Amino acid sequence: MPGEVLATAEEYVPGPGVREENGRLVATVAGVLDVNDSRMEISVRRFAEWPEIREGSEVYGIVTEVMNDFVLVTVVMEDGHEREVIGGAQTGIIHVSKISKGFVKSPSDMFRVGDIIRAKVIRARPTLHLSTIGRRYGVLRAYCTRCRTPLQYIHRNLFCPRCVKTEHRKVAEDYGKPALGGGLR
Ligand SMILES: [Zn+2]
Repeated sequence: MPGEVLATAEEYVPGPGVREENGRLVATVAGVLDVNDSRMEISVRRFAEWPEIREGSEVYGIVTEVMNDFVLVTVVMEDGHEREVIGGAQTGIIHVSKISKGFVKSPSDMFRVGDIIRAKVIRARPTLHLSTIGRRYGVLRAYCTRCRTPLQYIHRNLFCPRCVKTEHRKVAEDYGKPALGGGLR
């Protein structure tokens, strides 16, 4: 939001949509924060400048609901725009047949509410349809359903060190490894 203090001038240099004011970096437009760590630059991109989610693109999201034959996901990032939260988050749907190559009896065997996932857009309009078929797609971070501790991927199982129990998900091949952006921390 305009006037919002984002950081100090010692931490970052101001990019588009940001100006320096008494050693502080302040937003000049309403939009989405963009932190470029390699250039140490902070900028704000106007909401209207958001690219549309297209068929075939890769998105990140958080599972918000697990039903009998589909899963709902709040899409918060699009690939190539990491660290940028999509303005007015969109809800995507993963049908049970689009979770995995093999037969999936129930989505709750593969996803739980709060899981952070990577998915592919198979239809963008009128409803956002996603797929997690393929090794690259699936859960990147999951939390224990009992105690919410982040689960560790050990011996092809997700393990809660606190409850000393395992859970199952449709995991992405790089589970736990990708550096996730601001919206997913
Ligand atoms: Zn636990």
